[in-house]
Amino acid sequence: MYVPANLNDLLQYLETHQNGVHLIANGSDLLNRIRRKQINAKVLVDLSGLSEFNYVKEEDGKMRIGALTTISDIVASPVIDSRYQVFREVAVRFGGPSIVNVATIGGNICAASSSEDLLPVLLVLDAQVRLKSKVGERILRLEDFLIAKRTIDLKPNEILVETMFRELDEDSTCAFEKIGMRNSLIIAFVNCAIYLKLDKNIKRTEQIRIAFNRVAGKIPERARQTEDALRGKILNESAVKDSLSVLKNELQLNSDFRVSKEYRTDVACVLFKRALTRCFEKLMGEKILV
Ligand SMILES: Cc1cc2nc3c(=O)[nH]c(=O)nc-3n(C[C@H](O)[C@H](O)[C@H](O)COP(=O)(O)OP(=O)(O)OC[C@H]3O[C@@H](n4cnc5c(N)ncnc54)[C@H](O)[C@@H]3O)c2cc1C
Repeated sequence: MYVPANLNDLLQYLETHQNGVHLIANGSDLLNRIRRKQINAKVLVDLSGLSEFNYVKEEDGKMRIGALTTISDIVASPVIDSRYQVFREVAVRFGGPSIVNVATIGGNICAASSSEDLLPVLLVLDAQVRLKSKVGERILRLEDFLIAKRTIDLKPNEILVETMFRELDEDSTCAFEKIGMRNSLIIAFVNCAIYLKLDKNIKRTEQIRIAFNRVAGKIPERARQTEDALRGKILNESAVKDSLSVLKNELQLNSDFRVSKEYRTDVACVLFKRALTRCFEKLMGEKILV
């Protein structure tokens, strides 16, 4: 195990040691993978002491969350006000209390699996990631950073230092839904996150982004046809019903040992309807009847 004294020390180490080196934050994903022999790390480089990357702040119209910030630090932050209720919606369904206290946002992003709960939320927030190395930094859209299941665009000399997304205003909101066999310590059958921006005067959808995990290909993905079907529409019962049939055709979910593809698709449609109606309710203070 290599424990860097500070960021410079870490970046210098990564510049010169790359073979068999694996970064570890709080280990709630990685240690299981090492135990299952899915990863053969000769040296673990411990990021958990880099407390300068534990923060949540709003700056220049953007929300910035440091990579070492845990789920419980996020929801405890005074910056996470009612606009960002979505992070509380994730936290109450995330693992159990012991996991929420150690799971970092950077670890969730870089684990890049089909079961990470923050990924659909950050995708619909159109988040970016900031990567640092000894030679400089790169900023990428999360959507481009996530290449495939367990594959990210991170070079061996880089670390993820923060994720950021545009602040939510009074016309926009976000909601998250998840369902599994039980409420805690369980991998979801399917997750759904929605970002909605409304023209509140006429209840028209100005922007919408929808993401699910457990899609074929096994990385969270946007449901773009359903987004297109709703964009510019007055959000009422018939618009939601029409979008549900688009979604049912668009979704390509997998069967696995947990549930069948058909069941997962039906559940995804229910989660979509719940998340969309909750977004509408958060913005308008009234329900869409569906
Ligand atoms: C019992 C249990 C329940 C769980 N429940 C959930 C759940 O409900 N929802 C959910 O989403 N996840 C869940 N997880 C998975 C895990 O807790 C999360 O993925 C967590 O966010 C990982 O954070 P970590 O700090 O522990 O990452 P680690 O395990 O330390 O790292 C995960 C991966 O990210 C890389 N990494 C970490 N930080 C960085 C960085 N800054 N830069 C570059 N690479 C980095 C590591 O190299 C590693 O490959 C659960 C895990 C367990 C054991």
